[in-house]
Amino acid sequence: MMDLSRRTLMASAAMAAAFGINKRLAFVSPAQAEAQLEPTVGFAKYKVGSVEVTAMYDGIWRKPHDPAFIKNASIEDTKEALAKAGMTTEFMPIPLTVVVLKIGDKFVMIDSGSGVGQWQPNANHLPDNMKAAGIDPGKISTILVSHFHPDHVWGLLEKGTNAPVYPNAELVVSSTEYKWWTEEGRVEKLPDARKAAGKRIAENFPNWKNWKLVQDNAEVAPGVRVVAAPGHTPGHSAFLVASGNQQLMVSNDVMYVPALLAPHPDWQGAYDQDGPTAVATRRKLIDRVIADKMMICGAHFPFPGAGKFAKDGDGYIFTSAA
Ligand SMILES: [Zn+2]
Repeated sequence: MMDLSRRTLMASAAMAAAFGINKRLAFVSPAQAEAQLEPTVGFAKYKVGSVEVTAMYDGIWRKPHDPAFIKNASIEDTKEALAKAGMTTEFMPIPLTVVVLKIGDKFVMIDSGSGVGQWQPNANHLPDNMKAAGIDPGKISTILVSHFHPDHVWGLLEKGTNAPVYPNAELVVSSTEYKWWTEEGRVEKLPDARKAAGKRIAENFPNWKNWKLVQDNAEVAPGVRVVAAPGHTPGHSAFLVASGNQQLMVSNDVMYVPALLAPHPDWQGAYDQDGPTAVATRRKLIDRVIADKMMICGAHFPFPGAGKFAKDGDGYIFTSAA
């Protein structure tokens, strides 16, 4: 425990010195990262070159421990990983953060959060935090969608009516992801736990005219490209933001909860539809982020969801930024 903290802090100091990116971010200890699971101020801004990134906290899923959560690890294993990262072992903490990029005068959001009252009871803070951050949802012109899981897309749909929340924004998603979820007969083929979500997607998304379907490496906003990251879902995408000589990998669910997957990148989550592909994607993406000295953010990282990775034997060390 002491060893890990000391090593992480040393890695943190070295990385903070090595990266010029994001001068307003400081790197924090695991105990501070624990506090970031439920931040008191729910938005943070930082820069990537000339792009202003606003991270907004949507909330947290305090998921009860479940032996099926990681296919190749036990509850005891996952509790041990949480404890080593300085986090609670009472439940599986799955926080959710959404980012908006301000590129010139354009507002580009990545995913839409989980919607108020549509996912978990403690995840409904995005609208308030967006307002607090001074972002007018009506000014968001593009939404880059990483994948069609509820915590990432229910914010696109009004509760009850399923009316589009962002009818005037361009909704960008991998054509693989869109086609997989909306193809004929998909809902019947889904596992029972996914059927209701699949039905909501299939009954609503195809009626909307503002989808833009894209391929790997497409430029989807000025300086922002799709990075195909399959495994979690068939068309799961990361997005690479480049401005000046700085880069931010918006990794979405590739690294899911780093407290678990940084030291154990080969763990396969029940939420990873294709476990072995998800593992290969995870290693490839994190190796690239380390090699290119990038900042990375993730939807389920401790708030504000950004940080750095370093190699540690066969796994990685994650250092959260605040
Ligand atoms: Zn997710």
